Amino acid sequence: MKALFLESPGQYPRFDVKEIPLPRIESDEILIKVQACGFCYHDRLIISGQLKRGVTFPLVLGHEISGLVVKRGCHVKDLTPGDRVVCLPTDACGLCENCGKNKTNQCNKGIALGHNAQGGLAEFVKVRAFSAIKIPDNIGWDQAAILACPIGVGLEALSLVKAPKTKQIAVITGAGGGLGIHLVQLAKMKGFRVIAITSDDRKEPIILEMGADQVVVNEEIGFSEIINAITSDEGADLILDTVGSPLWPQTFRSLSKRGLLITLGEVTGEEIRLNLAELIFRGATITGHVGVSKNSVVESVHLVHEKRINPVVWKTFPMENILDASKSLGNQNQLGRIVLTPNWI
Ligand SMILES: [Zn+2]
Ligand SMILES: [Zn+2]
Repeated sequence: MKALFLESPGQYPRFDVKEIPLPRIESDEILIKVQACGFCYHDRLIISGQLKRGVTFPLVLGHEISGLVVKRGCHVKDLTPGDRVVCLPTDACGLCENCGKNKTNQCNKGIALGHNAQGGLAEFVKVRAFSAIKIPDNIGWDQAAILACPIGVGLEALSLVKAPKTKQIAVITGAGGGLGIHLVQLAKMKGFRVIAITSDDRKEPIILEMGADQVVVNEEIGFSEIINAITSDEGADLILDTVGSPLWPQTFRSLSKRGLLITLGEVTGEEIRLNLAELIFRGATITGHVGVSKNSVVESVHLVHEKRINPVVWKTFPMENILDASKSLGNQNQLGRIVLTPNWI
């Protein structure tokens, strides 16, 4: 089979398509013919060399995988060749203590696809059957690829938050991005009044269509002034930040007393300054979130099947054009996820 290997990361990363043997599946595993693979910021950080921990090269990237089951191990009962599936980004065992508590992304025998094991930018990928979730026919392959990350990841982040009382405000930064556009929908579904922050006013109509109550275009004035004006200086109860340091300290300044700031993305890796007295004064909580459990992916599949959440794919690129996809990520026009599709001959 063919697979796209990242041979070396850095400013001028080198990729190579190679012919390799089909993965051999164990009794609890399935073989999947990849149909689509989302392109995540995580991938770009590996390509640029900024993310090194646990990664060895050459590496086949991609953890947002949808595909068709083509083979199953002798102990696999609930999946059969021909089933359409989405994979958990962390291939989990389903048997350990953490999996038993639905912390499948912290599985004791977890394998991070496209990070420390072969990912989805290949003709085929193998995972334990536990880590594949069936998807209905009304969800296309490109949309299916993003059901776990980013949609399930967003759902899991919102599960950290108590159901809002009336009129509680959630601010979503990077609202046009692959994660942000789904957080807008999910926060609205959970009952928040959603204020979306974007860098480009051309995205406003679609972000409103996706459920935002208000869109703030981040210009020179800084959005924290606007959030505080909108909220009569109360600030937002919840901030879901997908951008990170470039928007600091505006995100923090937009937070209400006893508010919660969840960091889900960091696009530049810069350090930030924080006056701890301000943190104390606000009684605020700042936390990070990563990963997705199986239960959240199952819920994501259900919500998309019921058309309560709309998976937004911005563009698709052939897998071999990954460098073009990587350059496009973070582009001013981006609205939704970039998805890579197989183009093997
Ligand atoms: Zn991802
Ligand atoms: Zn486990």
